[in-house]
Amino acid sequence: MKRLDAPDISFKEAFDACIEGVGRAQTKKLYQDNLRPLGPIEQDYAAKATSGELYLLPRIPSIRKVDQTILGDLRKSHLVKLYDQYLRQEGKPGRSIYQRIKVSANGKCPFCGGIGHVRTLDHFVPKANFPTYSVVPGNLVPCCRDCNSDKLNSFPNAMGAQVLHPYFEDEKYFSQQWVHARIIEIDPPVVEFYVLAPEDWGAVDRQRVEAHFLEYGLADKFGIEAAADLPETIQTRTSSLRDFSPDEFSNYLLEKSRTLALPINNWRRVMFLALANSDWFCSRGGGGS
Ligand SMILES: [Zn+2]
Repeated sequence: MKRLDAPDISFKEAFDACIEGVGRAQTKKLYQDNLRPLGPIEQDYAAKATSGELYLLPRIPSIRKVDQTILGDLRKSHLVKLYDQYLRQEGKPGRSIYQRIKVSANGKCPFCGGIGHVRTLDHFVPKANFPTYSVVPGNLVPCCRDCNSDKLNSFPNAMGAQVLHPYFEDEKYFSQQWVHARIIEIDPPVVEFYVLAPEDWGAVDRQRVEAHFLEYGLADKFGIEAAADLPETIQTRTSSLRDFSPDEFSNYLLEKSRTLALPINNWRRVMFLALANSDWFCSRGGGGS
């Protein structure tokens, strides 16, 4: 929904910062012996994310309760701990990496397009299924609480079911309109958001924006924002229609959608477009005036 630059932090940098916080020499060695040889795994991750193939990364089923061995002598719990205790935990050297990634979104959650404020880091491929990537910076994305809890616990098994990765997706998801809205002609008017991908997009692209919209509950999130915002526009309509025609008011809304300089799929921009295109709304439909 909102594009972000991938963190300019290598796996090695993140890993070394985490390791610095490990107290026991034996545990430190266990991590170093088994994770150092992985080398620049962030490049493999980035390549797969760019081609929409993260779902092909080797995964362990989350239903298995056993603490599986993942890499050499490293168990799943070691890798989960690497994040929980050595990257996220306050006071640890790795925490600076956590903070650097967290502030990179300027406080706006990229998954819902900035409705929610960033409160945490999301593991794009969950550490429960993909523990090897628990501290790979490209897999850590600033996220709001809502989006973090809306996200499914298990990563999909099909290409088209994957949500959009703020760091690596094709530019078209951010530069072409796929979020649309229609005005429900009741009083007060309701703005209903839906997905309609551009005609020349392939089946997988279509499925992915649908999946993203559905998984993060964007119809509801956008609808709630629009309902709170609409009274102001209805008020403007009441005063402008004394002097202007419905067509002129429609042009005003159209102009407003442009001048706000919002991203193309931003709910507010999409809302003004839908209102401008509604003859009913522009001719005093709903809102008691
Ligand atoms: Zn969010």
